[in-house]
Amino acid sequence: MNKEKDLSAPIQYIKGVGPFRSKLLARLGIHTLRDALFYLPYRYEDRSSIKKIVHLKPNELNTVIGRVLNTNIKIPQSYITKKPRLKIFELTISDGSGIITAKWFNQPYLEKVFRLKDDVVLYGLVKLNYWGTGLEMLNPEYEILTDEDPTPEQINLHTGRIVPMYRLTEGLSQKQIRSIMHSALNTGISYISDTIPMEIIQSLKLPALKESIENVHFPSADLSLEDLNRGSTVYHKRLVFDELFTFQIGLAMMRKGELKEKGISFSPNGRFTSSLLSKLPFKLTSAQEKVFQQIIHDMKSTFPMNRLIQGDVGSGKTIVALLSMLACAESGYQAALMAPTEILAEQHYINISNMLKDISLNVQIITGSKKMNNKKKITEIITNEQADIVIGTHALIQENVNFEKLGLIIIDEQHRFGVIQRAALRKKGLNPDTIVMTATPIPRTLALTLYGDLDYCTIDELPPNRSPIITILLDKKKENQRFKYIEDEIKKGRQVYIVYPLIEEFEKIDLESAIAGAEDIQKKFPQLTAGLIHGRMKTDERELIMKKFKEGDIKILVSTTVIEVGVDVPNATLMVIMNAERFGLAQLHQLRGRVGRGRSQSYCILVQYKAGEDSRKRLNVMARTTDGFIIAEEDLKIRGHGEFLGTKQSGLPEFKITNLFRDAKILEIARKEAFSFAEKNTSLNNFPGLKEGLQDFWGDRFDLLKIG
Ligand code: ADP
Ligand code: MG
Repeated sequence: MNKEKDLSAPIQYIKGVGPFRSKLLARLGIHTLRDALFYLPYRYEDRSSIKKIVHLKPNELNTVIGRVLNTNIKIPQSYITKKPRLKIFELTISDGSGIITAKWFNQPYLEKVFRLKDDVVLYGLVKLNYWGTGLEMLNPEYEILTDEDPTPEQINLHTGRIVPMYRLTEGLSQKQIRSIMHSALNTGISYISDTIPMEIIQSLKLPALKESIENVHFPSADLSLEDLNRGSTVYHKRLVFDELFTFQIGLAMMRKGELKEKGISFSPNGRFTSSLLSKLPFKLTSAQEKVFQQIIHDMKSTFPMNRLIQGDVGSGKTIVALLSMLACAESGYQAALMAPTEILAEQHYINISNMLKDISLNVQIITGSKKMNNKKKITEIITNEQADIVIGTHALIQENVNFEKLGLIIIDEQHRFGVIQRAALRKKGLNPDTIVMTATPIPRTLALTLYGDLDYCTIDELPPNRSPIITILLDKKKENQRFKYIEDEIKKGRQVYIVYPLIEEFEKIDLESAIAGAEDIQKKFPQLTAGLIHGRMKTDERELIMKKFKEGDIKILVSTTVIEVGVDVPNATLMVIMNAERFGLAQLHQLRGRVGRGRSQSYCILVQYKAGEDSRKRLNVMARTTDGFIIAEEDLKIRGHGEFLGTKQSGLPEFKITNLFRDAKILEIARKEAFSFAEKNTSLNNFPGLKEGLQDFWGDRFDLLKIG
C-alpha cells in the first residue's frame, strides 16, 4: 500500500470538494484525506425518529423537520424612542401535525436562504411564545434539505438516521461538509489500517480503527445518542487511544534514547551555593530544599538530568534555579537560563546579578534586541568560557551562540517553549542537564502526558507569612469603586498593576485601550507617576520602566499581558485586571500571582465588562480559591483543554480528538501500554505501522532518529 497516494492525497480531489471548498476546509485544518477522516463531529442529531411538531414540549432541545410555510422580517419599534430595533427574521414550518415558528435576530440575509416549500431541519430549544399560543425556537441551527436534484443516497445521509454535525467555517454548510465527509470515507476508508500493535488491540479489546472511523462519522443505528454526544462510544475511545498512545510512544522512546546517553557527572563543592544561602534574607522552604537536593543528586549522576519542576506562582523557583546554576559553576561548567520574554530575561538578569554581587562569577544576558556589536562581544564571552551564567530569551538557541562548556540548561516558564527548542538548546552542550520550570498548575497525570519524557517534581509549598490574595469581581461601570481601591493601596505606600488583555487579532484596538487606560489613570492621580509597558516598546524603554517600577518611582504600572509571567515586585499589592472575562483562568492565575509576594495583604480586582452567566461562573472560581491546581481543574472542566494548556505557540501537544478532562482514564491506560511496549522493544523499526501512526499524528514533534 502506498500511503503517499492514499491518505495523504489532497482533499481537493475528493468528490464534491474542488479548489474553492478545499480552501474553506483548510481553514478547519483539513488538508488531506487523512485530516478529513480524523475531523470528528462535535455533536450528533438523531433524525431517525424525529418528533412530530404536535408532540413537542417547551423547554426541550429538539430537532424538527418541516416544510417552509412562510417567511417574514419584522422590525419592531422601541416603545420609548420609536426607533427601529433589531431585525427579526421569522420562519414558519409545518410537518403536517402542527406548525412552529423560528426566529433569528439581526440576520436578515436569512430571507435569501430559505425558500417557500423548502424542507428544513431545525435544532434548538423549544419555547412557548410570548402569548402562550404556540411554539417557537430562537436562533435554532438549521439545515435545508431540499436539493436541486438530490440522489437517494444523499437523502439518506441527512435524515432518517443519526446525523453528524461538524464545526463549520463561513461558506460551508453542514450539509455540504457532511456530504464531503461521506465521500472522503468512501474513498479513504479502505486505506485505513491499524497502527497500534495487534497484541495491545487484542488485550484491550479495542474495535478496529476502520470500523471506528466509520462509526464516529456515520454511527450505526444501535449507538446511543448520549454516548455519541459525550464522545464516549467505544469507537470514540479507540480514536482517542490511538492519539494518546502514539504520543506516549513518542515520549517513551525518546526518553529511552536519552537514558542511554551519558551525561556530565558534576562535582559541586558548595562554595558558591553556601555563600549565596548565607546572604539570603530568608531560609529556603523545605519544598525548595527538597527539590534542590533532588537536582544536586541528578547532577552528580552520570545520566543526563531531564527534570520538570512545577511550582505555583510565588513558590520561589528562581532561587532554586540560581542555586543549581551555582552548583554547575562550582564544577567548572557554564549554565544557561532561558526565559520566554525579554522582560523576564531582563528581570532575571538584574535580580541574579544583584544576588551574585559578592560572588565573582561572570553573568551575561543575550536577547533578540540587544545591539548587534554588543551581541557579538557577548557571544564571544560565552564561547570563550568567560561567562559562567548566561541568561537569555530564545536568542540563546541561535546559531551564532556557542558555548564552550555548557553543563546545565534551565528553561523558565516552560509552557511557552516546545520540545524542539529544548532540543536545540541542548545541542549547544554535550548532553547538558536540563531543568524545565513551570508555574502552570498541571495535575500530575497531565504532567505525565505532556512531559512524559521528563522527571517531575513540585515545590508544593509557598514561603511563610503570605496571606492569600483577596479577589473581587467588579463591574466595569463601578469606576469610582475601582479608583478607590487603587487610591487606598497607594496611600499605604504600595504599588499597583493594571493589566489589559492583548491578543494578536485585535492588537491595534487592544493596544489603544491600554494606552488610553494609562492616560486615564494618570489624569485621575496627577500627583503620582503612572507608567505604561507593552510588547511593542523598545527593550531599553521597557527596561527603564520596569526598573522605575521596581524602585518605586512608578506607582501604577499599566500593561498589556507582557507582565504575565515571572515579574517580581513584592511591594505591588493590587492587581487590577481589565476585561477579565477575556482571559483564561490559568492566565488569570498567573497574573494574580504578580501580587501577594510580600508580607502585606494583596488584592486582585477582576473588572468585568459584560456580565454573562458563563464568564461570571468562571471568574467566581478565581474569587473562591487561590490554589492553582483547583483553578486548572476548573478550567479544564469549563473549557475542555484548549485554553488551559495555553495557545498554539505553547509547544504543547494539540490534541485533535482527545479531551484531556474527559479522557483522563484512557490517557492512563495509553501511557501504561506505551511505556511497557517501550520496555520490550528497542526501536520501532519492526513496527512500521506504528512508526507511521506516530508520524501521522505528531509530525516531527518527536525526533524519529532518536527513537530509531
Ligand atoms: P516564582 O516561583 O513565581 O518564580 P519567585 O522565584 O519569583 O517565584 O519568588 C517569589 C518571591 O518570593 C521572590 O520575591 C523571592 O525573593 C521570594 N522568596 C523565594 N523563596 C523564599 C523563601 N524561602 N522565603 C521567603 N521568600 C522567598
Ligand atoms: Mg518565576
